Amino acid sequence: MNSASTRAVDVVIVGAGLAGLTAADQLTQAGHDVVVVEGRDRVGGRIRTTEVAGVSVDAGATWVAPHHTAVRDLASRLGRGFVTQFHRGKGVISLGGKRRIESITALPPWTTVDIMRILSALQKRVDDLPVSSPWEHPRAEQLDSMSLGEWLSSKRARKDTRRFLNMVSLVHWGAPVGDLSLFNALRYIKSFGGIETMLKVEGGDQQDRVRGTAHTLAGGLADTLDSRVLVDSPVTRVTTIGDRVTVETGRHTIEARYVIVTASPTHRSTIEFTPALPDHHYGLARSWRLGALSKAFVAFDRPFWRDEGLSGEGMSDNETVFLTFDVSPDADGPGILMVFCDARGFDACDEDERRRRVVEHLVHLYGEGARRTIDYTDFSWGNDTFAPGGPNPAVGPRAWTSFGRFLREPFGLVHWAGTETADETSGTMNGAILSGQRAASEVAARLDRVS
Ligand SMILES: Cc1cc2nc3c(=O)[nH]c(=O)nc-3n(C[C@H](O)[C@H](O)[C@H](O)COP(=O)(O)OP(=O)(O)OC[C@H]3O[C@@H](n4cnc5c(N)ncnc54)[C@H](O)[C@@H]3O)c2cc1C
Repeated sequence: MNSASTRAVDVVIVGAGLAGLTAADQLTQAGHDVVVVEGRDRVGGRIRTTEVAGVSVDAGATWVAPHHTAVRDLASRLGRGFVTQFHRGKGVISLGGKRRIESITALPPWTTVDIMRILSALQKRVDDLPVSSPWEHPRAEQLDSMSLGEWLSSKRARKDTRRFLNMVSLVHWGAPVGDLSLFNALRYIKSFGGIETMLKVEGGDQQDRVRGTAHTLAGGLADTLDSRVLVDSPVTRVTTIGDRVTVETGRHTIEARYVIVTASPTHRSTIEFTPALPDHHYGLARSWRLGALSKAFVAFDRPFWRDEGLSGEGMSDNETVFLTFDVSPDADGPGILMVFCDARGFDACDEDERRRRVVEHLVHLYGEGARRTIDYTDFSWGNDTFAPGGPNPAVGPRAWTSFGRFLREPFGLVHWAGTETADETSGTMNGAILSGQRAASEVAARLDRVS
């Protein structure tokens, strides 16, 4: 099916991440003929499985919150279950090189009070922000005129509070607080369901993982679509003439009535559209650039940190490792730490140096036991060969109020999906599924009207 072809279908879907696969699935179930074209040699997009010590782990999207019902529905349809994120014991936090046991509550009281003050000030601004059409908020221009970092300065956030927020920013947007619009941060927090949900494990965004990795969801959906999915086929051109649209890859030419593009907004600009997209679409692509985040997995004989009553949850403002979680399959099997790394101090190093830096920092957090590694692997999303970046766009000041309204506004026969176009849970797998469902409904309504 992946050999060169020319064909005609109802709808072409660009991108085989969860958004594209969901749109294809919904349209197929409604009786429409679809093809999904994917640039990478695999499905899943920002969902990717890798292996460490013989255990499959998530190099990309990982956690599912209790309220991520779209992911949960899909998992149940595909017969997949969840594992609860290990969360027993005390955490470790290291700020300015000082290591303390038990995350935020073990910080000096003035730091804890200041972090709480800043988080509640953020939450207050989030409360009245609409996730849909947020640019209509009366203070949108003002909130979008400064970076999260500038806002922290204006609030006289303490140094440790800033470091804490920087870690949150790196893990969610792959960028430091200075690169990010305050408005973008607020809208994202709202879309996630609030700051507490966003930071929490139990009852929050880090509660569960898909058993056998999140890729089983993308893979499962792709299996149901079978030969309708073409991989290794980056779309280079989308040409609309009259009421037909032609999608071209190096090998395939597909004519359709509609196309749904699910590439993240910044990667839409790698496709040549005829007629050309209006200028604001290029502004959107430029301003919605993805951040960069890298993940390492370090395996040990056992999760030795549990013996000392530690949960494996670590936070640090060191330049390499800023967050760790215990993703060991069980207490006796290999102990595995999932380690989030700051791409800026990591991606340029060779593998030996990356591993050295990670292990050294784990020794700082968890003691000498962290030197006894049995396996290591890592993945740098910023160096990904196709459509690089992740996890989410680091949208800078003034971008939302200038270009936000064009995120999902159809252009002729071209519709847009992808997690960035979702209102609720934008930036997650759940948002990706919701966006695929919304785009499929838009296109199905047009197909039904025509027929
Ligand atoms: C490191 C990391 C950690 C994350 N952690 C979580 C988490 O814990 N929980 C969570 O819910 N989410 C998480 N996410 C976010 C989650 O992965 C995404 O929100 C979701 O997978 C996006 O799905 P999508 O289909 O919208 O986009 P994508 O998965 O990006 O899919 C778009 C697809 O389009 C393809 N494409 C782009 N351009 C073209 C072209 N020209 N031609 C053909 N194909 C093209 C791409 O190759 C890609 O496969 C994380 C992401 C990363 C990177």
